Amino acid sequence: MNLLEQRLDYPFRDAMPGQGETMVVAEGAGSGAAPAVKWIRMALPFALDHINLWLLRDEIDGRPGWTVVDCCISRDESKAQWESVFETQLEGLPILRVVVTHMHPDHIGLAWWLCERWNAPLWISATDYNAARMASQSTTGFGGESAANFFASHGLSDPQAIEKIRGRANYYPGMVPHIPPTFRRLQGGDTLRIGGREWTCISGFGHAPEHMALYCDALKVLISGDMMLPRISTNVSVYDIEPESDPLRLFLESIDKFAHLPEDTLVLPSHGKPFRGLHERIRQLHEHHRDRLAEVVQACEAAPQSAADILPVMFKRELDLHQTTFAMGESVAHLHALWFSGKLRRQRGDDGIYRFSAA
Ligand SMILES: [Zn+2]
Repeated sequence: MNLLEQRLDYPFRDAMPGQGETMVVAEGAGSGAAPAVKWIRMALPFALDHINLWLLRDEIDGRPGWTVVDCCISRDESKAQWESVFETQLEGLPILRVVVTHMHPDHIGLAWWLCERWNAPLWISATDYNAARMASQSTTGFGGESAANFFASHGLSDPQAIEKIRGRANYYPGMVPHIPPTFRRLQGGDTLRIGGREWTCISGFGHAPEHMALYCDALKVLISGDMMLPRISTNVSVYDIEPESDPLRLFLESIDKFAHLPEDTLVLPSHGKPFRGLHERIRQLHEHHRDRLAEVVQACEAAPQSAADILPVMFKRELDLHQTTFAMGESVAHLHALWFSGKLRRQRGDDGIYRFSAA
């Protein structure tokens, strides 16, 4: 546990559900009541090696069952794990609804399969639904020609890396082969009734197009998705599809929307362990990005810097290609936050590369 984590409270300590099992993280009210929220943890074949999914006891049109929040990527291993959850963890009840926090593959990958199998509707923001549909049918935003050109314009010059990014056109569809043909739209401020309790949608920006977190005041539980993680900081990147965006400002504004929730809110994040200490974590994330921004400004005061030049300033460890693409997006995000707020100015060199210097 790192120093910052020590200021958070992990109420379940190191306990976590095993493969294909669940762990109750919020009890229903009254004796004999069904558990309100169960935790599923599924393996991912990345450096970030797991995702948390949630089962919420529900009843829709008089029919008892479960609402699922998030799905895992589409692959046989995840399906097998779901099968074992269906068999042993649903108390003989069906899945009635699939809620997806945002369009990233680990969250939406198997939505098509879950929705088809249970004849259940998909609930998601319209922006993420449409972005996911587009991405699953094309190469936009996650590799391919336009991503390679975008990274090159920000100084990534290693021809091998550029070639690999160009060849990664199937990156998103590989993990998200289909998207359900219809959806039910979630918007910030909407209230969902799940299992007789009200859950409020809190929209968040800067990580995904329109991320939805869910907060239940009766349970004091926040399903935070990727917008509030206890250990790692959420990826905030500029992508080729929206090359002049300012996602870091959007992200920092969005996490402040959680600041009005009670201090003792139990946060259920998509990665890492459930925790309390939401307000502390909001402070930590602001501090983290403030420090990164200060380092970036300092480097740009010494000499004009491209996003690729900034990588060793922001990331002290060795990066593989996958990490480099994430890191490049983050680097551009920090440069853009400073550029949009007037602290840096941008110039494009004869080599086509954007460089940023002190304003
Ligand atoms: Zn995500």
